[in-house]
Amino acid sequence: MALDYEIKSVRLTPSDDDSHLHIELIGYASSHVEGEEIMIPIARALQKMAFSEKFHVMVNGEPVEVKAGKCATCGIEPYLVTDADKPDFNQIEELPQK
Ligand SMILES: [Zn+2]
Repeated sequence: MALDYEIKSVRLTPSDDDSHLHIELIGYASSHVEGEEIMIPIARALQKMAFSEKFHVMVNGEPVEVKAGKCATCGIEPYLVTDADKPDFNQIEELPQK
């Protein structure tokens, strides 16, 4: 059975030109460490996804899968996106910040 983690928090960092924010780390709940979130960079999340692990965010009470993509503002890759994103609204960027 594939692991599917809920992303609950995010750490944002300014883009190189300081015009907007980028996802730096995502935080997901671990089944091993109760109550503690594990913060990992995008590269690590993509590595886990390559090994069939999944991540999702809750949007209006429904899980939406996190996928590899580009920053909607500057196009930088790799980045994390969801199908529930809008052109100026990345669901992951809107999570509580750690
Ligand atoms: Zn960007």
